[in-house]
Order: sequence, then structure tokens, then C-alpha cells
Amino acid sequence: SDRVFASMRVAGPNPAMLERLTTLDGRFPVTAAQYQSVMGAADSLEQAMAEGRVYIADYAVMTGALNGTYGTNPETQKYTYAPLAMFAVPQQAAPDRSLLPVAIQCGQFPAEYPVITPATGTEIWQMAKTVVQIADANFHEAIAHFARTHLFIEPFVITTHRQLAPNHPLFQLLVPHFQGTLAINYAAHESLVAPRGGVNDLLSSTIDNSRVAIVKGFQAQGFNAAMFPRQLRDRGVDDGVALPIYPYRDDGLLVWGAIHDWVATYLGLFYNSDADVISDRDLQNWAAELVAFDGGRVQDFGDRGNGKIATVAYLVDAITTIVFTASAQHAAVNFPQSGIMSFAPAMPTAGYVPARSIAEGSVNWFDLLPPLDQAQSQLNLVYLLGAVYFTKLGYYDRGHFTDPRVAAPLQAFQQRLQAINAIIDDRNQHRPVYDYLKPDNIPQSINI
Ligand code: MN
Repeated sequence: SDRVFASMRVAGPNPAMLERLTTLDGRFPVTAAQYQSVMGAADSLEQAMAEGRVYIADYAVMTGALNGTYGTNPETQKYTYAPLAMFAVPQQAAPDRSLLPVAIQCGQFPAEYPVITPATGTEIWQMAKTVVQIADANFHEAIAHFARTHLFIEPFVITTHRQLAPNHPLFQLLVPHFQGTLAINYAAHESLVAPRGGVNDLLSSTIDNSRVAIVKGFQAQGFNAAMFPRQLRDRGVDDGVALPIYPYRDDGLLVWGAIHDWVATYLGLFYNSDADVISDRDLQNWAAELVAFDGGRVQDFGDRGNGKIATVAYLVDAITTIVFTASAQHAAVNFPQSGIMSFAPAMPTAGYVPARSIAEGSVNWFDLLPPLDQAQSQLNLVYLLGAVYFTKLGYYDRGHFTDPRVAAPLQAFQQRLQAINAIIDDRNQHRPVYDYLKPDNIPQSINI
């Protein structure tokens, strides 16, 4: 349904795609009449944009991606898509202000791909929504999941072990959030994101091109832009009046706040001033290796993005980002794999007809969907990847922290996480259930 399709943008497997649209983009010429055909004559596209109620999901990064194949003898063609999708929130007086889909264009160039709305036709609209789901599944696995959580954390794992002594307070704080990450990343590199691996079989593109998408997606966002509150601001989705229903944002901010306070209190035990940070040579060597070309190649890291940590405040934001990404952000994108993503008709990982054939009306919805054996392979793989829960956020091994001053702030952190569990349980009474950022469901590290 349109309602569930829209909810995928704010509570689905890839909940960080939506951006506020304030002016019409020439690539996506949705008309005022098309907008009103969905949102009603009392609303207008111009007014909705002025009020910040219009949002876009733009899969431009997939433009020109090479179409993959699956199977041998014969090989079956798969197709990649780079659609644009417009969504809007009803006016402030409306009784239900859930996000709604307004229009979809199945490729980036309007001369080749017409704007499709619910009024275009029931089956064409259904296929256009599925094209967006397919593009979103590809963006999700390559970029939101693998690049921006698994690969994002890896240089921090290596550099922390190389540059910090085991009794350094930062080593003690970070290392539990790295457990299992190198092992799962190596397994992914060896067998999953590999020739003849699951990514090659199931995603739309060739394995080489999926790897390119992973790198492009990784490089498109530096470290400082990955900080959760800044991400929300940069995408223009931090306004709770314009976009009232956004479970990923609202639950994520609670968890971010809890991690931020824990990290600030913990680091405050060891760093009393910015001068303490600047004069910690191990810490500065750690930061320098993270950004070095022959080191971690982390982009835009440090107060000024230059690999130097100058303030306690920045150190707290940076460490919060590492812990949040290794725990909450990964949970938000990893565990929906065994939910909605395991049901191929709702979120196929590849399409099987060219996007241009959809508006021509020469194909039907079943032609677009994966063959049964591919749907079963998708179920097998993503169910496994989304079903392994190992460790729980905030629960470190007994005796892990050797400094007795850590006990009180750690207990406060755990109590705060328990309170957030209760808040989210309550929220779920009044919205479609979103459980992925409940602290009880968030592991300490990326280990699957
Ligand atoms: Mn994962």
C-alpha cells in the first residue's frame, strides 16, 4: 500500500535516504496538478514546499550502473534503476499526518522516463513503487549498510589497536564496540561481496559495479557529516512539525543522547581541558593515522577535518559517532534484513525488466519481480544476516573498566537505556511498530 511504501522511508531498512525538497528539480518535473491529484485540491505543491512538507528519495548514484546477470546457461538479465520519488506530509490541520508518496520517475532523465502517479494506473504505479524498492535495496546493502557502517568502522578498529595502549582510556572504551567487525568484514570480502557471491547473484548490478557503488557511497560522506544530528540537519528532516512521523529519527536521537552523555562523562574522567586533549600524544597519533593516506584514509576527521583533535567537545562528538555507528546505526540497517527485506515481493534486491518498459505498459508486475529461486536465495541470505544478535549496547564484560570511577556513569548509562526501551514501547502503542532502535535490540558492535 502507499502508506507502507512511504513508511519504508522513515521506519524501513534504509531510513536515511529522504531529503527535504524546497525547489523543483528539472530532473523531476512533477506538476501542480499531479501533486493535487494525490494530496487534494486544498493543498498545493508550492505551499507544501514553502512549509517544508515535501521530500525526495533520489537514487542518482545508481545512474549508469552496469546491469548484472544471474545463473549460467542461460544467463538471466537483471536491471539497475536510478529512480526519483517524491513524498509529502499532509497539512498541519489534517487528522493523519503520515508521509504519502506523490510521484515516481523510474530514471533520472524526464525525456526518457515519464512522471508516474497513482492516477497513471494501478499496475504501473505498483511497478513504479517496486522500482523504488529495488533501488532502495541496492542502495541499502551497498551504501547504507556495508559502506556506511561495516567499512566506516574498520579503520578505527585497526588504528585503535596500532596506536593506543590497552590501558589507554579510549582503547578501553572503544574496543568492545569493535568485537567481531574485522571477522565479518573479511568474510564479506571473501565470500559475499565477491565474484559468484551473494551480492553478485542477488543485487541488480555486476559485482565490480556493486563494489564501485560501495566505494562511491563511502567517499560521498566524510566522518563529520556522518554525525547523527548533523545528518538529520543536512537532509532537512530534523523538523518535527514539517515531518512529524519519523521513528528512526526520534528513537535515534534518544539513543544518540544516551551514548553522548555516557561518552562525555567517561572522557571527562581523563580529560579536564582542551589542553589535555592536545597534549595526549597517543590520541593525536591515533587521529593522524586515521586520516593518513597510508593509514585509514578517513575523510573530514578532526575539529577542522584535518586529522587533529583540538577540543574535548569534538572528541566527545567523534567517539559518540563511532560508538553510535557501530551499535545503533548498524542495528537500524542490519536487522530489517530479516524483516521486510526477506519478503522479495515487498523489496526485491534486483529487477528483471528495463525501467523504460514500465511506462510503456509492455510488462506486468510479475515480470519485474525475481524468479522464485532468486526470491528464495534472497530470503535465505538476508534472513541469516538479520537474525544474529550478539551482545547488548551498554553491557560491557564484568571488570572491563579498571578505573573504579567508571562504575557510576556506566550504571547511569544502563539505566538511561532501560528508560529508552520503555519510551519506545510506549511510542509503539501509537504508531506502526518500530523496534530496531530499542536499546535491548542493539548489539555493542558490528559482528554480522
Ligand atoms: Mn551487518
